[in-house]
Amino acid sequence: MEKTLQGQTAVITGAGSGIGRAAALKLAENGARVALIDLKEENIAEVKQQITDMGSEAMVLEADVSKPKDVKEAFEQVASKWGHVGVVFANAGINGVVAPIEDISPDDWDDTLETNLKGTFLSVKYAIPHMKENGGSIIITSSINGNRVFKNWGMSAYSSSKAGQVAFGKMAALELAQYGIRVNIICPGAIDTNIDQNTFKKEEQLKEIMIPIEYPEGNQPLEQGAGKARQVADLVLFLASGQSSHISGTEIYIDGVESLI
Ligand code: NAD
Repeated sequence: MEKTLQGQTAVITGAGSGIGRAAALKLAENGARVALIDLKEENIAEVKQQITDMGSEAMVLEADVSKPKDVKEAFEQVASKWGHVGVVFANAGINGVVAPIEDISPDDWDDTLETNLKGTFLSVKYAIPHMKENGGSIIITSSINGNRVFKNWGMSAYSSSKAGQVAFGKMAALELAQYGIRVNIICPGAIDTNIDQNTFKKEEQLKEIMIPIEYPEGNQPLEQGAGKARQVADLVLFLASGQSSHISGTEIYIDGVESLI
């Protein structure tokens, strides 16, 4: 039986860890050739190996999503090797600076916004020339912090970048519909990944400034504890595939009800 994404090319940013890694494996399992983008080649070499071992194709591209030259060249390399790009998962992101607003340095603010928001813009911008002809699906990883949950005190830079991704994704959906390119935004709640390592403040400082919140039923009522990257990968597969062919310009929460409590 033909696999859902057989013959398609998918580009995934932040593919070396967490949600990006799980999505890379999921899309490859379902037939896609996968281009893996991350800051360091060693982060993604192992993912490439896993994909090769399952009999699918992968390529490794070391690139910083906040750098226009890196992103442009990465998409050009993918297109010159595999042709049309059908799926883009703009997912790379950091927690970045976590601090009271008056303590956030302008440089730390820029770093967070540049990775999360500018990185998304660049990943979409440089994908378009390689998607326009045959259409495709773009999926952007925002967060419940993007427009529903503001309980994580100290995360004004992160939340601003995530809200920006939602607005940008909706504008892109409208603009790119003419080419048959769908754009959707996923908003995960807490997911068990390595993202806390990409936080500019250390654990102790984090504890000091976060407002402690007690939930009667745990963080995510549907399941105790954080969600899993593979659960997010299932959503990415759905949005990448033809099963979601009439869905574009929407944000989808994947948070076990976390954002409603
Ligand atoms: P992670 O740290 O496990 O993985 C992120 C990956 O992105 C890493 O491999 C990192 O090297 C890469 N990356 C970071 N900056 C980059 C850059 N400038 N260029 C290229 N690659 C870069 O984190 P994750 O939890 O899998 O995060 C993925 C996305 O999910 C992020 O956008 C994050 O904001 C979002 N998100 C995560 C959670 C969560 O609880 N984990 C919740 C909501 C949203």
